[in-house]
Amino acid sequence: MPTAPRDALATWVRALPKAEVHLHLEGCVPPSLVAGGDERPRLPVRNLGELLAYLDWACARIDRPAQLATIAYETMARATANGAGHVDLIANPTHWPAFAGRLDAFVGGLDEGFAQAEADGLGTAALCLSLKRTQGAQEADELVSWILAHPGGRVVALSIDGDERDGAASHTERFRAAFARAAAAGVHRCVHAGESSGAHGVRAAIDALLAERVDHGIGCIEDTALVAEIAARGIPLDVCPGSNVRLGVVASLAAHPLERLRRAGVRVSIDTDDPLLYGTELTGEYLSCAAAFAWDREALRALARTSIESCFAPPSRRAELLRALDAHPD
Ligand SMILES: [Zn+2]
Repeated sequence: MPTAPRDALATWVRALPKAEVHLHLEGCVPPSLVAGGDERPRLPVRNLGELLAYLDWACARIDRPAQLATIAYETMARATANGAGHVDLIANPTHWPAFAGRLDAFVGGLDEGFAQAEADGLGTAALCLSLKRTQGAQEADELVSWILAHPGGRVVALSIDGDERDGAASHTERFRAAFARAAAAGVHRCVHAGESSGAHGVRAAIDALLAERVDHGIGCIEDTALVAEIAARGIPLDVCPGSNVRLGVVASLAAHPLERLRRAGVRVSIDTDDPLLYGTELTGEYLSCAAAFAWDREALRALARTSIESCFAPPSRRAELLRALDAHPD
């Protein structure tokens, strides 16, 4: 029996070599790893309130590095099953109370899981250690100091995530020095902006915080000049369309700015954000967008290329993944 076109496309997209660059550790805690109980919040989540409730509940129950290793390993198993040969995983230590003041143990647990995954032939992974918007300048500086004290390790980037309404715009000034210090030392930078904030948030991420890559970034759509600048400078946006629809950032996939940004020449990738909290996976996100925007394989291939080019893997690994992408048959 001939394969239906939709199934054939799904098989092709799943195997399409790609990277995932906007994925949160906190959205990758398998429910099976967290002891149940009547108080377990519901999954999948339907809004930001439910997301934060589940995340706080689940992360607070993880207290051993070996559990973090399991989360890291399973994250890479899912990534590999979706064709993602590399993952930049965003981890925010403030969400993990059992590891407060134990950043070595926190990163060490994750590193063990990633190393085992790589030894087993799964994809490669890098960590982006993230600040919460309400943290102080000194905490930001301490996090940078920790990263600089561990060169060549699993952590390659400084990041900001969380609700953009927290801390208003003042986080930009509070964190400016920390990001400048990271940039001067060659540490990568990615910043959540333009999810619930508008174009001004994206502008601040690029200009004041020296973001190389903007997480979401879709709020730039309201400023035509900024969109043109982002396109001209080649600054990649790692967009999470399914997350945006689920959390009500946009009304529907059809109304999502992703396609307008792509057509304006902005380098965009597709990512899942918090897949286990939404009950989604990367292949499904590519397919949903392909259906909503009538993308052909060439368009999907270009998105995969951007995901690889914009990831923080070493240049040799990026080149390897790009060769695999070029070799992927149409
Ligand atoms: Zn995110």
